[in-house]
Amino acid sequence: MQNLEAFKTLISTPKRVVITMHHKPDADALGSSLGLAEYLKMKGHEVTVVSPTDYANFLSWMHGNDEVLVYNEGNEDKTHAIIDEADMIFCLDFSNLSRINELGEKVREATCTKVLIDHHLEPEDFADFQLWTTEAAATAELVYDLICMLGDKEMINRDIAEALYAGIMTDTGNFKHSNTTKHVFVVCGELAAIGADISKVAKLVYDTNSLDKVKFLGFALNERLKVVQEYHTAYFAISAEDLKQFNSKTGDTEGLVNYALSIEGIKFAALLIDRTEAVKMSFRSVGDFSVNEFARKNFEGGGHKNAAGGKSDLTLEETVDKFEKLLDEYKNQLSNPIKTYA
Ligand code: 5GP
Ligand code: MN
Repeated sequence: MQNLEAFKTLISTPKRVVITMHHKPDADALGSSLGLAEYLKMKGHEVTVVSPTDYANFLSWMHGNDEVLVYNEGNEDKTHAIIDEADMIFCLDFSNLSRINELGEKVREATCTKVLIDHHLEPEDFADFQLWTTEAAATAELVYDLICMLGDKEMINRDIAEALYAGIMTDTGNFKHSNTTKHVFVVCGELAAIGADISKVAKLVYDTNSLDKVKFLGFALNERLKVVQEYHTAYFAISAEDLKQFNSKTGDTEGLVNYALSIEGIKFAALLIDRTEAVKMSFRSVGDFSVNEFARKNFEGGGHKNAAGGKSDLTLEETVDKFEKLLDEYKNQLSNPIKTYA
């Protein structure tokens, strides 16, 4: 962080703090926010964590979950009042204010100090302090680094450690993606040493599926997966009717796109879901094909080079059509086979 000394001075006295994260927060967004919140509370600050929307049930075990203010569940006015009174707003795991929906304008207009902690590409310039690098696998890793930079490593307790560990575990795809650096293992080793229960966190995040979710996975794999061999691409198109049939809840489609990417030879995977208000899209790739660029250019989105998302206001069928036509446009990048590790 540039001007770390000024930041240290600022938070050396009690502040009214708001922490927010991207909408439909994942384990990294929520874990980094709740981990930071707990630390700042221990330092004597008054902290409110605001999520723009609800999130998956498999994250509700995190310490501090019960106090999270869900903005779009009737808490708009309350949140605005808290922001008006706040001294500082921390924005975690997103770097573009459009990622927090209507809350974005409120944060943009706020006159208090803004702090960005994030690892997504191409950040918007709205914060007074930034701890931002795409070198970090997870925002939770950056929160760990920040607490250490502030000289407070010994204040990280088991609750903070487990929330941060969950963020790093999921954003590295369970230590599988190319962002899994030595630093990731060092940080996670430290979190384990502090007492984070690694096996408990993995069980709570990955192995608490509802029967509906598992059956939906079977249905999607059997009925909705399409492979475009010539472009080394595989994708799912899920209708609103499909979601209804399997009683789909927030979080139930998370991870599905990875099954498309797991097919041998596939280098580009997508998940297109009709969320009624828009078609929401998830993109994943292996190697050089940048899904961040693909999402930014074609679907009002962004993210990381190998994991990004976007949206489309067309119907699902029209979106599938547009997506398939785009594959032709990107054929120079998609036609050649994936590099193997022979
Ligand atoms: P997911 O596919 O898991 O929702 O998201 C993958 C990555 O892309 C995450 O890092 C997420 O923050 C980012 N992402 C997802 N949707 C969008 C979007 O609509 N806009 C931007 N800028 N990033 C997104
Ligand atoms: Mn993240």
